[in-house]
Amino acid sequence: MRTAVLGAGAVGVTAAADLAARGASVVVYERGAVAAGSSGRASGLCYDAYADRIDAAVGARALERFRERSDTSGFAFTDCPYVWLARGGDDRRADAIREGVDRMREHGREVSLLDSGALAARFPLLETDDVAVAAVAENAGYVDPAAYTEATADRAREAGAEIRTHTPASLRLDGSPVVSTGHGEESFDAVLVATGAHTGNVLADAGVPVPLKPYRVQALVTRATPLRDDLPMLFDASGGYYLRPYGRGLLVGDGTEPVERDPDDWDRAADDWFVADCADYLATGVGRTFGVDRAWAGLCTATPDGDPLLGECAPGVYVAAGWQGHGFMRAPALGEVAAEQVLGGDGIDHFSPARFDGDEDFDIVEGMDVARDE
Ligand SMILES: Cc1cc2nc3c(=O)[nH]c(=O)nc-3n(C[C@H](O)[C@H](O)[C@H](O)COP(=O)(O)OP(=O)(O)OC[C@H]3O[C@@H](n4cnc5c(N)ncnc54)[C@H](O)[C@@H]3O)c2cc1C
Repeated sequence: MRTAVLGAGAVGVTAAADLAARGASVVVYERGAVAAGSSGRASGLCYDAYADRIDAAVGARALERFRERSDTSGFAFTDCPYVWLARGGDDRRADAIREGVDRMREHGREVSLLDSGALAARFPLLETDDVAVAAVAENAGYVDPAAYTEATADRAREAGAEIRTHTPASLRLDGSPVVSTGHGEESFDAVLVATGAHTGNVLADAGVPVPLKPYRVQALVTRATPLRDDLPMLFDASGGYYLRPYGRGLLVGDGTEPVERDPDDWDRAADDWFVADCADYLATGVGRTFGVDRAWAGLCTATPDGDPLLGECAPGVYVAAGWQGHGFMRAPALGEVAAEQVLGGDGIDHFSPARFDGDEDFDIVEGMDVARDE
């Protein structure tokens, strides 16, 4: 089977490696370098703590695949518990955390609720005085997203895939899908469009509308601190920020702007307000602030219902996008499912792009908000 993958991000290269390993002929087209898109700008938090059954299974499978290849193929998965919490007065999110943990446990996830005393006993460096409720997921950790993506691109090449970098591609339908580049056109049995924030435009240009909106999020890395050795990954649902150990310092993220962005025209530098807010976040989270080493912005993609678009959207054309800020941690599983679908497998009905017409109007809702369904 002759297949093409558009986009060499974490999802595209995973799908390409799996397709090639299963005997398909694969050409990957990437407009820049491998990991030039969001996968090269992501924070790398990974966990399976999802309240929805399908999300929990996808998250668990992704962690399993990260661990299988960790340390042997150019990237490392570092185990680190993931804590998320709501602070006093934020009853809506506190209730959502309690309810979410019950559901996660029903799906077999290793998560538990902690009151502020238990949280302080386990993680003494966290500021816990005003914590209303916290939860901790044990099956969690972090990965350098660019390292995973580059290592998986190498795996794809070793399995026989050809990766053409610095080759922007467009798609047209002419019975079978045809990929056009500055070097000419090639026809394929199946094309997987995994072009991240550009996915809506690439498919719209081929006459296949999908409801996807790119939006901007931000992250920064602090200067070195020994605190990094004894902190969990933390998401403060009331404060709307997360942090994790990173290098010799800490990575702090969010700065979400729920505004649709043009994927060809957006500000890659972090905003001053975000950097200033991070000082408050650190003071709230760990009781100290640190100097900033570097800060940046990147794009995520939203869908009308917050679930991915993963599946066939026109004859021979498959889409893989719309991760609401959770695409890296699920990439090993999402890419695997995408490859299976291209080869005729079932995929995940719940994520089928066929559930939408493509012209839906919707608001961007932040992917990490624990009370987002309420
Ligand atoms: C600051 C930040 C922090 C984040 N933190 C996390 C996190 O902690 N955990 C998590 O799970 N997720 C996180 N995310 C989200 C995560 O980065 C994405 O969900 C994930 O990387 C998406 O991978 P992808 O392969 O779908 O897309 P991308 O990595 O964006 O890859 C798409 C590729 O397609 C290429 N492309 C685009 N158009 C074309 C074209 N026409 N032809 C050829 N190639 C094309 C691009 O150059 C790009 O390389 C974060 C994102 C940001 C910005």
